[in-house]
Amino acid sequence: MLCPHCQHDDSKVMDSRDAGDGIRRRRECLACGQRFTTYERVQTRDMMVVKRDGRREELDREKLIAGITKACAKRPLPTGAIDKLVHEVETAVSDSGRQEISAEAIGQLVMERLKDMDRVAYIRYASIYRDFKDVETFKEEIESLLEPQEPSEPSNQLTFLEEELVRRPRRRRGRPQKQPSAAPPQEAARA
Ligand SMILES: [Zn+2]
Repeated sequence: MLCPHCQHDDSKVMDSRDAGDGIRRRRECLACGQRFTTYERVQTRDMMVVKRDGRREELDREKLIAGITKACAKRPLPTGAIDKLVHEVETAVSDSGRQEISAEAIGQLVMERLKDMDRVAYIRYASIYRDFKDVETFKEEIESLLEPQEPSEPSNQLTFLEEELVRRPRRRRGRPQKQPSAAPPQEAARA
């Protein structure tokens, strides 16, 4: 990192802060003492993603953000949560030191984090990226997520989730009027 004032190649970091998609550092040149700011961002441009059909494409940051944003739509998440998640995924990908990574592995990295962040967003994302083979697998996944929170109504777990995907249930209104319709869980899996 060359000092923009005297081109000296050594500087001291005075301050570091996370800027969401990168890190801003305030530096002080060890030769002339002047201060300057650098911005570090994880390099993902050369990372190739191997898709399921074997085709390769560059890791598209915007696409990654768009997918996560969609899954998190209308969820009560703190500001910057998605940026932070994307940043973590990029860092994990970069730290792997690999030249290419499967689309599945990226989906996995996102899901691991979404699972802790927001269950509904996780399920939405998983329904796209996990490629659930059948309804049963999808149901098992949902049940495993809901189990700790809804132990009293095991038979309604799927219904509960479908409701929550549309809007968060409001307790004051009591039971939802809509019957658990014939709309099968494939709907969600296909979305
Ligand atoms: Zn300098």
